[in-house]
Amino acid sequence: MSVRVRFAPSPTGFVHIGSLRTALYNYLFAKKLGGEYILRVEDTDRTRYVDGAIEGMLNAMKWAGIEHDEGVCIDEEGKVFQKGEYGPYMQSERLDIYKKYVQKLLDEGHAYYCFCSKPRLEKLREIQRAEGKVPKYDGFCRGLAGVSKEETQKRIDAGESYVIRLKLPASREIEFDDMVRGKVSINTDDLDDQVLIKADGFPTYHFAVVVDDHLMKITHVIRGEEWISSTPKHVYLYEVLGWEAPTYVHLPNILNSEKKKLSKRQGDVAVEDFEKKGYLPEGLVNYVALVGWSPEDNKEIFSMEELIEAFSVDRVSRSGGVFDTNKLNWINQHY
Ligand code: GLU
Repeated sequence: MSVRVRFAPSPTGFVHIGSLRTALYNYLFAKKLGGEYILRVEDTDRTRYVDGAIEGMLNAMKWAGIEHDEGVCIDEEGKVFQKGEYGPYMQSERLDIYKKYVQKLLDEGHAYYCFCSKPRLEKLREIQRAEGKVPKYDGFCRGLAGVSKEETQKRIDAGESYVIRLKLPASREIEFDDMVRGKVSINTDDLDDQVLIKADGFPTYHFAVVVDDHLMKITHVIRGEEWISSTPKHVYLYEVLGWEAPTYVHLPNILNSEKKKLSKRQGDVAVEDFEKKGYLPEGLVNYVALVGWSPEDNKEIFSMEELIEAFSVDRVSRSGGVFDTNKLNWINQHY
């Protein structure tokens, strides 16, 4: 089976240098192994959607020379279009697909309607925090599933607001192997009954990502380590949907010189900032490749072709990579 990977940005603003690296590693991995690299837009959080962010992201990728084989693209005139047989590749255009799979989970008792109001959930969280507990849904609506389908339907028909939640089994250990982190395991008692479909009818990231990675035949999920704690939920979803989970590769954070997560407040983190300052795309891409990955020899200057040749997940580091502007400048001068 050929390797298929994806970069799945959410259009919430500028392109962070960490996203550039995630896209780059996906691209290098696919090209090295003769596979396909897909770009999917994860735009299901309507509250964080920023106009123009999709175009900005696609232009940044074009500028950097990271070309995808399938997915959401932009033409010379700046018009967004999609190509590939597994589309649509914009999650907001896939709502019927998510509905179909959530219905399957509801029918099989792996998901349930939850009518809890915001004030009730807030109060619950407040009490749990006061007791020193990590806030977690208490399963108040779990009993509704199956017990009274008609009652549930009546409430839906009456226009009551609801979400659909995943019904996690109690005290189950969920495990997966990460190519960078090794074995990761978590007990379901430490997880929440994840919302799958929100009150606005859109899926949550957690549900959409599983459905789409499966339907788009993704073999390896390469993404930032901030998602590693969510992965057990995804693995469980694969299990109840009867699908095989992909292989996971969680990349270490990019850190600043104080070893803290690189953020906008501390200077340039947007790809466009570097572009405006006159950095060459080859220089930035070459440098970013080396933040969190090291080649076998001590070579530092690479063309894209050479990066493809040299790249391997085995040499991605477990600890965060430090972003060093002096080094970037030095590399940039070599082009
Ligand atoms: N939409 C997520 C993000 O922008 C993608 C996470 C993933 O790759 O699964 O971070």
